[in-house]
Amino acid sequence: MRIPNSHPRKASLEVRHGLTEGYKKGLVAEAGLIAHGRGECFDYLLGEKTSLQAATAEKAAAAALLSAENPAISVNGNTAALVPGGSVNLARVTGSKLEVNLFYRTKKREGLIGKALKKAGAGKVYGLSKKHRIPGLGGERANVDDAIWKADVVLVPLEDGDRTEALKRMGKTVIAVDLNPLSRTARKADITIVDNVVRAIPNMIKHARQLKGKDKKQLAQILKNFDNKKNLEASERLIRSGLKR
Ligand code: ATP
Ligand code: MG
Repeated sequence: MRIPNSHPRKASLEVRHGLTEGYKKGLVAEAGLIAHGRGECFDYLLGEKTSLQAATAEKAAAAALLSAENPAISVNGNTAALVPGGSVNLARVTGSKLEVNLFYRTKKREGLIGKALKKAGAGKVYGLSKKHRIPGLGGERANVDDAIWKADVVLVPLEDGDRTEALKRMGKTVIAVDLNPLSRTARKADITIVDNVVRAIPNMIKHARQLKGKDKKQLAQILKNFDNKKNLEASERLIRSGLKR
């Protein structure tokens, strides 16, 4: 589908198209399409651009991944459909492991997502054989592979609130990308990026490249200066002012 350049909603429609294509390829679950719609609504109110708050959170997230011992990036269907190359590059720049982790898990979809990541240049992809269970969480979504199991810092784009809480209980630092600042995920994460994943991942790569040579102390200072609660409140105010406009 070609959307004319003059179309005022071109960028948003192209992202939507990426998701429906991902659905046809079997990467995206039906419910993933609906979840995206909720995200679009918040993005609309944010003017579909990265706010100052989001940029600050993206920089802190890059610093957290770079200072981790065992960083991991959890990839679900929507993330694989929208930012496969970005996920692989972010993993490479930050030395993170990639793990396929699905809420609506099927072996077939997992395999397809693994293949899509490989096609985008990934080395090892975790999550195709699940060895561990996250304590206190029911069902298939509790199964994880070594990357998430051993991680001290996990990036979970578009994660579910329940699982965020369970990962926190395991003592992990959780970084979430979620356009809804009111969701449980947004509220439970240590670093919440209220931005569209299609902008958040490239921005994190940019920050990680800039921060890569810095010493641990400088990274720790960035993390110390970051206040997730204040940042989230500011994002919420931004959405409210979007509503007034
Ligand atoms: P929670 O379980 O955390 O309370 P929820 O149940 O409301 O959240 P889920 O269905 O678990 O929501 O996850 C979808 C979330 O992902 C929504 O909050 C939505 O705003 C967000 N989202 C969807 N698409 C994107 C996107 N492209 N970029 C960033 N966030 C997105
Ligand atoms: Mg949920």
